[in-house]
Order: sequence, then C-alpha cells, then structure tokens
Amino acid sequence: MNRARGRRTAASAVLVSLVVLAAVVGLAWPRIHGVLSVGTALERTQEPRPWSAAVAAPVLPSPTATPTPTFDLTRHSTTDPASPWVVVNKQHPLPAEHVPPDLVEVEGVPVRQVAAADVAAMLAAARAEGVALELRSGYRSYAEQAAARDAVEARRGFAHAERYSARPGHSEHQTGLAVDVDSGSTPSCNLQTCFATTPEGVWVAQRAAEFGLVVRYTEQNTAVTGYAPEGWHLRWVGRDLTAWMTANGVTSLEEALGVTGGPEYAGG
Ligand SMILES: [Zn+2]
Repeated sequence: MNRARGRRTAASAVLVSLVVLAAVVGLAWPRIHGVLSVGTALERTQEPRPWSAAVAAPVLPSPTATPTPTFDLTRHSTTDPASPWVVVNKQHPLPAEHVPPDLVEVEGVPVRQVAAADVAAMLAAARAEGVALELRSGYRSYAEQAAARDAVEARRGFAHAERYSARPGHSEHQTGLAVDVDSGSTPSCNLQTCFATTPEGVWVAQRAAEFGLVVRYTEQNTAVTGYAPEGWHLRWVGRDLTAWMTANGVTSLEEALGVTGGPEYAGG
C-alpha cells in the first residue's frame, strides 16, 4: 500500500514536472526563437556581396567601404594626362609625347610613384594568402604600345587587335597607372580570357579594389569601356574612388566619372 502510493506520488511528481517544463519552454520559445532568427539575419547581412552581382544586388551595408554622400567625383581632372583619375579610352587618347614625370619600379616594373605602394601592398596581400599573383608589366611608352599593337595585329589580325590591343595613344599603360598581372599557378592563362578563372584572377576581381585598383575591362562593362574583358589589366585610381565604386556597384571609370567611351575610336 505504501509502496503503491509512493509510486503514484512519484508518477504525479514527474507529470507535474513535465507540465511545468512544457509551460516554461512554451513561454520562453518566442524569445529563444527570436534570438536564433536575429543571429541568422545578422549572418546574412554580413555576407560579402559577390563582385559580379554588385549591380543587381539590393543595397546592403558594406563592411569594407564607407561611402560618403558628399564624395567629390570631380576632385581630380579626367583629361589631364598626369591626373590620378585621367580616363584613357578609344574616345580619349593621350598625347604621343606624354611621359609620366614620377616613374618608379615595383619588382622591376615601371609604375607611377603615386600607385607604387598600393600595387606592392596588393601583391604582398595576395601572396600572404597563398595566391601566386605576379606583376607582368606597367608603364609602356607610346612607341612601345605602337610596337605591341603592331605585333598583335600581325599575329591575330586587325579585328582581334581592335578588341584586345589599344592603338598607340589610347592605352592606359602610357599613364603609368595601369599594370598587367600574371597567374603563377596557371601560366597558360596569362593574358588570356581564362585568367579570370584562375585563383589569381578570382582574387584580383574580389580584392584589387581594396588597394585602389580596378579590373578595368569586365563582362559587365564591355559596351562602356569598348574593350573585351581583360581580367589581368588593373588600373590604379586610389582607394577612395574604388571604395565609392564598390559601394555603388559601378564597375567602369567612364560611368563613375561621367566620361564617354565605347568601342569606336574618336575620329574613326
Ligand atoms: Zn594591360
């Protein structure tokens, strides 16, 4: 009798405990669930936006760039050949005699001093992450561009050269602010469209902007720039402008700075 009542008492205690537990969890569930939901939402907003989706992506706070509403896009000239923001394309050539006044060397490659520290920092950052980014070329004189263009035209024909190789005076390399980079891991893709798919090409597409450089010719901006995609060709414009471009989903200097471009050469 006592043992039976003891069992009943124990059973009742377990039942009461379960009811209390269920009540507590039931009351607390919205808070527990809410905390979990907020955590997931935060993780979502902190995901970096893919480079290629920048234009179509909804406006989200960017963890790396802090756009200033008053950022002055007219701060530097786009026509002065020595300006950090000079825009050189098929509509806007450089004078044949223009030579940058402040060329220095980064790993044996000539670039303007104003860009040198950022180019070196980019190479160091890539290598620190195991990405075999190599500097191939920088400043090219008018005469060197003329020879390079002639070589492409002789090898691949006029139409190919028009898409991939600037006529002399229309190459950004003459500014001393453009560099071509190589893939140490996949050298067969150097200066080839497939460079963009190498670890080095993927890295520069995602990270060069942090160092003030833009991948100048991409799939998205071919009509605006007038050039086929060249994942290896980087142009230094400085970190403030690349931060603004990243934050606003703008991929071309023409769109950022309001300069005409396109595939037709000025004067035909
Ligand atoms: Zn180039």
